[in-house]
Amino acid sequence: MKALGARFPVEDSRGRRYPEPSHPYRNEFQRDRDRIVHARAFRRLEDKTQVFTAGLSDHFRTRLTHTIEVAQIARTAACALGLNEDLTEALALVHDIGHPPFAHSGEEELDRQMRRFGDRFDHNLHALRIVESFEQRYARFPGLNLTFEVREGILKHSRDLQPGERPELDEYLPGLRPPLEAQLIDLADEAAYNTADLDDAFSARFFDLDAVVRDIPQYAEIQAAVEMQFPGAPERIRFNEGLRRLIDLLVSGLIEGTCQAVEEAGADDVAAVRRHPARLARFAPAAAATSAALKLFLRSRVYFSETLAEERLHSASMIAELFQIFLDQPGRLPESYREEQEGQPPHRVVCDYIAGMTDGFFRRTYEQNQ
Ligand code: MG
Repeated sequence: MKALGARFPVEDSRGRRYPEPSHPYRNEFQRDRDRIVHARAFRRLEDKTQVFTAGLSDHFRTRLTHTIEVAQIARTAACALGLNEDLTEALALVHDIGHPPFAHSGEEELDRQMRRFGDRFDHNLHALRIVESFEQRYARFPGLNLTFEVREGILKHSRDLQPGERPELDEYLPGLRPPLEAQLIDLADEAAYNTADLDDAFSARFFDLDAVVRDIPQYAEIQAAVEMQFPGAPERIRFNEGLRRLIDLLVSGLIEGTCQAVEEAGADDVAAVRRHPARLARFAPAAAATSAALKLFLRSRVYFSETLAEERLHSASMIAELFQIFLDQPGRLPESYREEQEGQPPHRVVCDYIAGMTDGFFRRTYEQNQ
């Protein structure tokens, strides 16, 4: 795959909010990656649910191992496309740092609570607040003082920012697309979670191999090739063989689709990528169809299955309950946290506190406040 001219050169970074001297052997995006890996919020991903609650099995993805898989896929694609691997890696490692406990049900419930006050909860905006202010590691400034491009990527990797949408975010170039390195993250995320959720749900016996073959046409082709090559191999091994090829199909499709879109758009530098009316990171048609089929399959067989629906309702109701307890009795929040948050509206203080929790910390706090 030929290198793209649309690579974001680290020398072109708009830099940090608080200027710092350069490092002798790490460039600015490498330093951002390291700051992210050493952040407390990053370590907390270890005890945040991806889809399946830990405890049922030691092999399910957590949000941390999911993040590592996204970083691996995104770096592979960035490298094949000749993009900036350091920027891509930093963005992949930070992409889920703003996730609250209990995966999507936690996110939805916090958003529902915030809407009561005419506000919203958005995990990307929360991630920005974490790296801008909640992480306290430096004497000279709050937050991690990340480069503009990493902060922009946190905000815009999964959706564009429209002009006038949020005036307080106007520094992040509303109306312009983020660089390709940031655009890649959303699709690397999709390739990672679709295949990982298929794997975890197969292990948890949500379906058998025949169902995957029946419902996902592209997977049926892959599986037929596996059967031909390894007739009589145990089902789990045949599934693993198929899964590897499925990841490969999606990642290759991402590289191919992006390369083609960039060529067709004639986007040979970052400015052209930014100005282009649509995102240029995309799956080639076959991979896009596979990804869509996987998503549908997982939705009906896993995400909206009775087993998970029950768990989701339970987590959401616990979050709603604790939210109200803290709102009614702010004295139950740690004193140091209340002092840090002085001047913020009470619902925001409560929301940020709950959003930062791991699943385990949430459960303990919930028990203690009964
Ligand atoms: Mg993710």
